[in-house]
Amino acid sequence: MPFVNAHTHIYSGLVPLGMPAPQPAPRGLPQILERIWWRLDRALDEDILRASADWYVARSALLGTGVLIDHHESPEFIEGSLSVLAAACAQTGMPAVLTYGVTERNRGTDEARAGLAENRRFLESCAHQEHGPLVRGAVGLHACFTVSDETIRAAGDLAAEFSVPLHLHVAEDPSDVADARRRGYRGVIERLDKLGVLVPGTLLAHGVHLELEEVQLADERGAWFMHNPRSNRANGVGYASQLRASGRVALGSDGFPSDMTQEQKALSRYAQQAQEDGAEGEVERASARLAAGKRLAREIFGADLPAPPTPDTERLQELEAIAKTQAQRLWTRMAAL
Ligand SMILES: [Zn+2]
Repeated sequence: MPFVNAHTHIYSGLVPLGMPAPQPAPRGLPQILERIWWRLDRALDEDILRASADWYVARSALLGTGVLIDHHESPEFIEGSLSVLAAACAQTGMPAVLTYGVTERNRGTDEARAGLAENRRFLESCAHQEHGPLVRGAVGLHACFTVSDETIRAAGDLAAEFSVPLHLHVAEDPSDVADARRRGYRGVIERLDKLGVLVPGTLLAHGVHLELEEVQLADERGAWFMHNPRSNRANGVGYASQLRASGRVALGSDGFPSDMTQEQKALSRYAQQAQEDGAEGEVERASARLAAGKRLAREIFGADLPAPPTPDTERLQELEAIAKTQAQRLWTRMAAL
């Protein structure tokens, strides 16, 4: 079975094509989100998203990745956005689990409703196999700190209705933990648990700032963690050392290209630097997490999946040309926000 990228953002596929660095340079994750990622996602329109998806998915196949578990947001183009991603995956023959990350951060509860509706619309289309047997849906939440308890409950209900996982960012930065405490919870994991959404198969990305007991509780509930070492390093959020308390940790690239061998190497390097202790060595831990992605994919798809066909060079050149054109549009739109 090919590599599994257990947490990524296809919408950031154009970034390697020369995204200008923000000035002045952001400091800390909240500023990185405000000035880069939340600006990029607001600048996405249908043509940009299609170019990004076609390019990212085809390159993932070329890099030996055969399953993408994606988390998508495009606040100015919500309805229909998951179908754009699905079309790119279906065309490349890439198995994928797609979801819209519901949030209230731009337009409050109206935005949350639109995000939930897009998840529902897409799950219904998957139930009719509109995107072929390899493309599945999940229900997404951006992160606890940008949604109310009501929205978390509604997302959990929708996931249960369709028997699909809930997929969200958790404790990537201390600000997510502080937010949960301000709302009266001991932390993010307790919040999810009390709201009834910490269930078998829940997909939790990051977990950098969780305590050991929180990781243990999530593990007992049957949730999965996705460790994203390159992204965590690039954003300077720290090393997710407490994930060692879970037996279900897979590797994700969090928007970086789907080069899972690089992700594995990064994990063993950063684990060593963080002097992570435990029975297994850094190299074994990294390869176990890469392998765990295959276990996760098997849980979701119910079978091993064959590698997608290698995209032909001519098609890739065509996609690259389109991607470069749309990347210029994206930088212009971002600069205007
Ligand atoms: Zn992410």
